[in-house]
Amino acid sequence: MYDITIIGAGVVGALIARELSFYQLKVALIDKDSDVGNATTMANSAIVHSGYDPAPNSLKAKLNVEGNAMFDQLCAELDVNFGRIGSLTLVMEDEQWLVIRQLVDRAKENNVPVTLLSGDEVRQMEPNVNPMVKGGLLAPTAGIVNPFQLCVHAVENAVDNGVNLFLNSEVIGIEKTSDGFSIDLKNGSSIDTKYVINAAGIYSDKIAMMIGDNSFKINPRKGEYYVLDHFGFGFVNHVIFPLPTDKGKGILITPTTSGNYLVGPSSEFVDTRSSLATDMATLKAVRESATQLIPSIPFNQVIRTFSGLRATPSTHDFIISESKVDGHFINVAGIESPGLASSPAIAKYVVNKLIGKQLLLVKNELASRSIKPYIHPLNMDFAAREKLISEHPEFGDIICNCEKISRGEILQTLNRSCPPHSIKAIKKRTRAGFGRCQGGFCQTRVISILADFYKIDPTEVDYDEKGTPVLIEDSKESAK
Ligand SMILES: Cc1cc2nc3c(=O)[nH]c(=O)nc-3n(C[C@H](O)[C@H](O)[C@H](O)COP(=O)(O)OP(=O)(O)OC[C@H]3O[C@@H](n4cnc5c(N)ncnc54)[C@H](O)[C@@H]3O)c2cc1C
Repeated sequence: MYDITIIGAGVVGALIARELSFYQLKVALIDKDSDVGNATTMANSAIVHSGYDPAPNSLKAKLNVEGNAMFDQLCAELDVNFGRIGSLTLVMEDEQWLVIRQLVDRAKENNVPVTLLSGDEVRQMEPNVNPMVKGGLLAPTAGIVNPFQLCVHAVENAVDNGVNLFLNSEVIGIEKTSDGFSIDLKNGSSIDTKYVINAAGIYSDKIAMMIGDNSFKINPRKGEYYVLDHFGFGFVNHVIFPLPTDKGKGILITPTTSGNYLVGPSSEFVDTRSSLATDMATLKAVRESATQLIPSIPFNQVIRTFSGLRATPSTHDFIISESKVDGHFINVAGIESPGLASSPAIAKYVVNKLIGKQLLLVKNELASRSIKPYIHPLNMDFAAREKLISEHPEFGDIICNCEKISRGEILQTLNRSCPPHSIKAIKKRTRAGFGRCQGGFCQTRVISILADFYKIDPTEVDYDEKGTPVLIEDSKESAK
């Protein structure tokens, strides 16, 4: 019997699991997918928003601002790439000054430092902006983070501290028992637990309905993006936003922690929760909107497009509370943007305010807040890298030529407590396959590494979920 079971191993479930692992509790973290962070957590703008934008006194405003402040320490503990680069919201028309002044007032209410800049000041900071820019709002506390690392490393920390992770475990039903719940999984097994935390992202309303809680609905809202190669450092130095509208924060241009640039996202409600397809018309609109801010975006550097689904709730704010149907069932739902920025504060809120109210939280003295740092050859100087390669030649065997990722870096992820089982899981952890050729050259070598490690045939190595192999048959055999 588990004390607490978290449904959903996105960044929110992952950080809640980590926070719970600091206490003497038996915790399970379950996800339907073959890897953690495989849903909205891996398809967003990766921005740690400053928090000037959410409506004052909302949970979004409170947890965004608190979460933002936690990122320096959290990312140091979890060896996650994070940069506090600041955001610039551009004023392109004189009439927009009124809106931007309202945002300054909102920032004050939310306790977020911001500075109004003139057009000249903006042009000095960002030489590639539209020269017609009239001014801007600088929010220096905004940042960028690697969301894949944040989620995987948080789960790794939680598992190291004793949390049990169950992947490929889709929840299909929840029954009330005398001392909690029995969670039925599609793979035929079940999990008994005293408390449930519902962190199932775009499916959180479906999970709540399993106990008869119909108090909210999730309306998936798609956002489509372009990813640009790392063609030139400093093309933009801040997250560049237009003015926010009732559709959201608008189409932005931002560097990523790995030196790429993202352009997007669009914002359209969609009927299906399963399609992540992008389409020409939407991407054209993204492009037109972004070039109003930065006219010279080099779209010939696009290496891929992608989309993510926002879990937009019917209630217009994060839903983080005990269900009215059963107080032992806690909804952490409707976590749309700024959910990534808020995630560390959401985890603390759930554990301290909601779980702490019901259970005596006794510290787990054996728990660590940090993971063992990874080896990052690309961050080393030449001499240090040479020494590393002479002692561990696998770090000199480059597998992904685009991103310069070595076999050693792939192998180290396999020997961790939240290891990759698929090509995509390796891509998320190491960036092998993330570059200009999108895995065209390195994918076969990644398949061999996975096949060797798990002692399976290369045709059994999946791209992503179970049953998605890239190789169908042995080509030499078939040629006989
Ligand atoms: C286009 C876009 C841009 C965004 N940009 C930003 C940004 O820049 N900054 C920011 O702060 N936020 C941003 N967000 C929001 C942010 O990405 C989310 O708030 C955050 O990722 C939510 O994490 P989560 O763990 O709640 O959900 P998810 O990552 O979706 O995780 C939910 C998990 O539940 C699992 N699950 C679902 N159903 C079941 C089931 N039946 N059984 C078992 N497991 C199940 C899923 O497999 C999934 O892994 C953006 C979102 C989108 C879509």
